[in-house]
Amino acid sequence: MKIIDFRSDTVTKPTEKMRLAMLHAEVGDDVYQDDPTVKELESLAASVTGFEDALFVVSGTMGNQLAIMTHTNRGDEIIVGKEHHIINHEVGAMAVLSSVNVRVINQTVLDCDSVVSSIRSDNIHYPKTSLLCLENALSNGQVIDQLSFRKLIDCAHHHNLLVHVDGARIFNAALALNTSVDQLVHGADSMMLCLSKGLGAPIGSMLVGNKDFIKRARKYRKMLGGGWRQAGIIASCGIIAIEEMVSRLHEDHTNAKALASYLSDKNITVFNNQLDINMVYFSFNMNIDHSDFIVKAKEDGFILNPPSNNVYRLMTHLNVSNEDVASLSKFILKYAEDNHNL
Ligand SMILES: *Cc1c(COP(=O)(O)O)cnc(C)c1O
Repeated sequence: MKIIDFRSDTVTKPTEKMRLAMLHAEVGDDVYQDDPTVKELESLAASVTGFEDALFVVSGTMGNQLAIMTHTNRGDEIIVGKEHHIINHEVGAMAVLSSVNVRVINQTVLDCDSVVSSIRSDNIHYPKTSLLCLENALSNGQVIDQLSFRKLIDCAHHHNLLVHVDGARIFNAALALNTSVDQLVHGADSMMLCLSKGLGAPIGSMLVGNKDFIKRARKYRKMLGGGWRQAGIIASCGIIAIEEMVSRLHEDHTNAKALASYLSDKNITVFNNQLDINMVYFSFNMNIDHSDFIVKAKEDGFILNPPSNNVYRLMTHLNVSNEDVASLSKFILKYAEDNHNL
């Protein structure tokens, strides 16, 4: 039976071309900065995003945390939005690695006024606010438009904060906004982007920023044990991810929108305001047995994550076709129909 995994775009497998690239990659010791393939990936990532320099890191979490370590001093306060990955899904790393305090703004999409009112004044009792962390696309499936995003960056700079962008899915965001990545993040002090999600690389993320920032982040990466050797083996996939996989992301967005429309039904609520990228959020308009639903889905070949507050997230990606979203939606609608009287 064909198994289709809708849990995340992190489940994507490297393409044939990536596997061949790994086989033939030119490599060296990257701690000596001798790996030509890593260097090529880093300069490609820097130029595509409009930053001076880049650092290849093992994960998005490592990239975000290195940014916080590099931008802040111990005891500083950083500002993040309530649903951001940095505060919710990185194991509280900033407390351990950077010893910073976190001010969480109770908004999904931040605005300048709330950022400004969260900045500490100069008072002996207060920590120093030094960094604003933004996210685009948001992990709830929405994107922040270019003008609002630019305003947030300017607003933070105007108040002497640095700005780090968690751009795990920045190429999806740029596509949804019909702009380029460098335009979208223009002015930010650093950004992390993931190669191993919708872009299909098996491992890795990029941290980008100016030369001095990357130099300091490289040292922290070494401190965390992230200095690697012949990393060109996997950097070769990152190059393909950026050069060749960005141009197919629109298929994932189209499939997500198709899935959302197939699911439009009296028994289902689709969260159409969170449909900007390759994520579809939905819930059943009835009580169902969630574990039964997930088991039955698996029996039919669909791997799904459990819901969060009764809301499911489905993700489209490289290894999900239009037929796959059609067959999943058929299964979901039938499950709802069969269970709505229970
Ligand atoms: C996936 C993700 C990360 C972290 O990436 P990992 O490689 O899983 O550590 C950070 N931020 C956002 C918004 C993400 O979706």
